Amino acid sequence: MSTTTEREADDGCVPASSAVPRPVLLDAAATTRCRRRVHLEHVPPEDLPPGSVPTDEDADPGVAMRRADAAAHRATLAARWAELLGSRWVSVPPTSGSRARAAATREVLADPDLRADLVGAAELPAAEGRRGGAEALVRAGPGDPASGWWPLIVVRHRVTDPGEGALTSPLAQPHPAAARPDESRRVRTVTRDVLRLAHLHRMLRAAGLAPPERPGEPVWGGVVGLDADVVVWIDLAASGGSGGRSALETYDRRHADRLAVAEAARRRAPALAEPSRITECRRCPWWPTCEAALRGTDDVSLVVRGDAALQLRGRGITTVRELAALDPAVGLPGPPADDPEAADASAAPEGPDLVEAVALARAWRGDVPLVRRVARPTVARGDVELDVDMESLGEDGAYLWGVLLTGADIGLEHGYRAFATWDPLPTRDEGRSFGEFWTWLSDVRARCAERGLVLRAYCYNEQAENRWLRASAERFAGMPGVPPAAEVEEFIASDVWIDLFPVVSEAFLCPHGKGLKRVAPSAGFAWHDPEAGGENSMRWYRDAVGLDGGEADPAQRERLLVYNADDVRATWTLRTWLTSDRVLEVPHLADLTA
Ligand code: SF4
Repeated sequence: MSTTTEREADDGCVPASSAVPRPVLLDAAATTRCRRRVHLEHVPPEDLPPGSVPTDEDADPGVAMRRADAAAHRATLAARWAELLGSRWVSVPPTSGSRARAAATREVLADPDLRADLVGAAELPAAEGRRGGAEALVRAGPGDPASGWWPLIVVRHRVTDPGEGALTSPLAQPHPAAARPDESRRVRTVTRDVLRLAHLHRMLRAAGLAPPERPGEPVWGGVVGLDADVVVWIDLAASGGSGGRSALETYDRRHADRLAVAEAARRRAPALAEPSRITECRRCPWWPTCEAALRGTDDVSLVVRGDAALQLRGRGITTVRELAALDPAVGLPGPPADDPEAADASAAPEGPDLVEAVALARAWRGDVPLVRRVARPTVARGDVELDVDMESLGEDGAYLWGVLLTGADIGLEHGYRAFATWDPLPTRDEGRSFGEFWTWLSDVRARCAERGLVLRAYCYNEQAENRWLRASAERFAGMPGVPPAAEVEEFIASDVWIDLFPVVSEAFLCPHGKGLKRVAPSAGFAWHDPEAGGENSMRWYRDAVGLDGGEADPAQRERLLVYNADDVRATWTLRTWLTSDRVLEVPHLADLTA
């Protein structure tokens, strides 16, 4: 995380020790962040408990790796444009500090002899509560020094899906005038990209560098994604987004709101955003600070997060203790008569939702890890069973498909096997390992069909597996063993493929989360590696294949195989427990709310 203190000192603002508050400057990311996070990032650091100011690495060890990968991706694109565009491309010379970079950018753009229509590595002057830079600026009127500039960003995730209608231009023609409706891509809207483009457009406008905004005319922003083969163009002025607003309108509202939150924090005014647990907390570096605060007040969002917590607060239920003490048969108290801001009464939990909220609160207070919602969970079982788990590295690919074969004899060895590539991703060898996995899976299906045996294949939360099944079939089409896309779709839609996550969601309330690592211990499973987890596995993978330039480490490869084998054994343990009488030892909802 680039802290406010570092960035603002770099921008030449008044130092923290001054009596005059430093002006707030927000980067584009603030518009998609939790409001409380914006508050915490702008409270004078001396007001926070010692050691509580985090780095992103505190919560997410993958952040540094992703940053390095993104920098490499940007460098690759810059080199490609230099090659494709020749003198029509120029990159702002590297300097240290955002203020110096902004001055260098100004100098390049003000050069009367500038022939380039694409200027890379641009930092824009901080103004109007904003700071930031673009991977490139595109001259709106090629060859016209007074035409202004559109922002273009380079990101390391996918920005299109198969389909049609995205407006794209070739990399060699990075200009909206060269954009055409694409027959093979549709836009995958990523809110943070769109809002970042709006942020950069506003910065360009503040600097007098944006093309004039005219009603009814497009305001362009360009994105190059992971595939790095085209520029996708987005009209930031087009209405039709959330609430019928354009991207610029949405951005302006969010920026104004976050700026108010940050300025109040900076002035030590009453906070405009309090902590409340939301989905984003899982990966937020401020979670230890917020969790301590929430536990300190026994906040109701510890057990009922998001909007449900807001609605309960609107009815005067602010703590877990108060929620646990409610009688669901009586229902919630009415909204306070003197509180016009109280949540809409009809939106607050009622009926079964309130019963579950109360049960969750009681389970939390009693340290009960699971509460049964059903008399007996149901999981379709087979004569032959597979547990499947895939390991991937971000957007780069899936390097390991692990399977555990159990059940009736079909002439194949029971137990765990791994289909892996240990060539560093991205690699065509991934297609080889995926083809071998699919060939083996198809063989299992054929043997079961020949013998009249029912086959089931289980995973936990199918999104990741399905994503890489589809992507692998698409990317490695034609390689030995790699199936056509339709065959993958048939498998995903079949009753062979079973996701245990919705089974668990249906069967249990989980006060501490529904992840496999949270739930499987209740079934009696423990991972060999005490550090087992998705983010750690990415770090082990990089060491296993020497992705950062070091020697490949066979010990980390072995560690990944143990981790993957444990994951499939965890799903085996979970589902066999779910269909045993032992699951009935989990307290039922009625036991907690009687
Ligand atoms: S931990 Fe959650 S509430 Fe706290 S700042 Fe982060 S996202 Fe916001």
